[in-house]
Amino acid sequence: MLSASDTQRFLRHLVLREVGAQGQQALLAARVVMVGAGGLGGPVIQYLAAAGVGRIDVVDNDRVDLTNLQRQVQFATADIGKLKAERAAELIRAINPNAVAKAFPEKLDDGNAVRLIAGADLVVDGVDDFETRFALNRASMAARVPLLSGAIGRFDGRISLFAPFDGDLPCLGCLMPESPPHAEVLNCAEEGVLGPVAGVVGTMLALEAVKLIVGIGRSLAGDLIIYDALDNVARRVRLPRDPQCAHCGKLDRA
Ligand SMILES: [Zn+2]
Repeated sequence: MLSASDTQRFLRHLVLREVGAQGQQALLAARVVMVGAGGLGGPVIQYLAAAGVGRIDVVDNDRVDLTNLQRQVQFATADIGKLKAERAAELIRAINPNAVAKAFPEKLDDGNAVRLIAGADLVVDGVDDFETRFALNRASMAARVPLLSGAIGRFDGRISLFAPFDGDLPCLGCLMPESPPHAEVLNCAEEGVLGPVAGVVGTMLALEAVKLIVGIGRSLAGDLIIYDALDNVARRVRLPRDPQCAHCGKLDRA
């Protein structure tokens, strides 16, 4: 049963027939791990906190920098120098004091990734480097936690959901077999990004997370959404599994 206060707080969800009390209970019971509290993580943590997700863990070892404020609108000038994960956890608790928000100011790698995500309903990837992303892909398969992954650069964004253990579906490695050489891949710092692109793509990640937890809409698993900000259109394309994939080839599939 929802409390009287939660019935008011989530009223606009409760009146949606497709969500209702059952969907709201699923959100309240859910645990999501957000890896990266920057441009993509900002909208995700704020919308998930507002939607009533019961526990949100934020993994990020960065501190807020002046160059972040152009797109990471969850932070203010007074936050410069603060740990992003801790500031993000404060924001979550300020939005919904009933939410459990935990800050993990650590760099995610093969050594800690499984510990950080094990038992979660979903892990969201909002990181900006390939090493961390591949470590997350490995951990997501080992812990069997679906990986919702987003990336932005310049005027473009991409999002996909990887749950290869749930059938004949691709993993992140099927899309990008290995970390490209650094010379070929510029990160956000080097190539730039138009600020609101982070908001659009981060909000799409939040939307997919809520849909997945509530169990509505078409699953993004096995598909890739490519967002083009200059045309302001998104395309959805099929993402086949690579049978030769070195990352998920030996995975025990359901
Ligand atoms: Zn794969």
